[in-house]
Amino acid sequence: MSPQTTETDRTITLNAEWLSDCSGCHVAIVDLHEKILAVLQSVRIQHFPVLTDIKDYPKATIGIVSGAIRTEHDRQAAEAMRASCDLIIAWGSCAVYGGISGAGNLHAPEDLLKAVYTENKTTSPHPGPSREVSPLRPVVTPLDQVIDVDLYMPGCAPHPTLIFEALTALVEGRTPIATQESVCGRCTRTMQKTEVDCIRRPSEGLPDRELCFLSQGYLCMGSATLDRCMSPCPQNGIPCSGCAGATMRVLTEPNRDIRTEIAERMARLTSIPREAIVKEIERNAKTHYSYTMATAMIGEKPTFLIRQWLADAEADHD
Ligand code: SF4
Ligand code: SF4
Ligand code: SF4
Repeated sequence: MSPQTTETDRTITLNAEWLSDCSGCHVAIVDLHEKILAVLQSVRIQHFPVLTDIKDYPKATIGIVSGAIRTEHDRQAAEAMRASCDLIIAWGSCAVYGGISGAGNLHAPEDLLKAVYTENKTTSPHPGPSREVSPLRPVVTPLDQVIDVDLYMPGCAPHPTLIFEALTALVEGRTPIATQESVCGRCTRTMQKTEVDCIRRPSEGLPDRELCFLSQGYLCMGSATLDRCMSPCPQNGIPCSGCAGATMRVLTEPNRDIRTEIAERMARLTSIPREAIVKEIERNAKTHYSYTMATAMIGEKPTFLIRQWLADAEADHD
């Protein structure tokens, strides 16, 4: 804070809340390092579990909510945030799309509780969660299924550069800059036609450092994924798993989805048949759709039949 700045100068007040999540999105704010001082010059932080111990929800200008709606507590906390904040930001892929908790929608809540508590070999016999544990809701949903959201900021977690841009934009009263680029847009690997004829698992072989993963037979979700991360994974030898969520093209076109986008591109770059790639992505759909399957934008597409894909994969396995 500059020496001239006083408490009353900081007219922007900030509440934050985490719902069902891993807390990584809030830790990402701490990753602003010294830049957080610039933010603090103009913002007064109030309810913010990772930074303060304020339990109630004071009135605030901006509300940051991370995490999916999985429990009744999540719903109540989200509603308290909406009631207390002028503007709500869905912060991170869990809040925007349901995130990794969304995979729970493939199982009944009772079965999840059995797997974690009563029938878990490492904890049984166990009576189950205590009454203090908030009950699970029937399905996991993104934040906007429960409260109105004003701004979406996907990313798992959003990159600190984009967090800084978003916070400073809001303090300055402008709309944050958000590109529509895919992860491929920033990746420096070269897409090149090859004679590769089979799909490789990430643990197989040693990928070339310069060549696009798709050209080498590794599934990389970069072309179907929004760049909210500065593309670190492919630049560091790891295929993109799509954690920032799908591109607008995938989200907005009913008959396009992650698997067809990737399969078309990979089939053009290799000698692997398109159908084999689609089948492989369907077989491992829990992995390839793990960040977005709870959102209606993906989950209600006519082409998204994850239960059928997984049943087919199980039948093939038998
Ligand atoms: S979006 Fe990713 S980093 Fe953020 S809370 Fe969810 S799992 Fe954690
Ligand atoms: S598909 Fe993956 S490896 Fe290929 S250019 Fe895109 S991000 Fe890079
Ligand atoms: S998995 Fe993809 S979207 Fe997620 S951080 Fe890595 S490159 Fe970005």
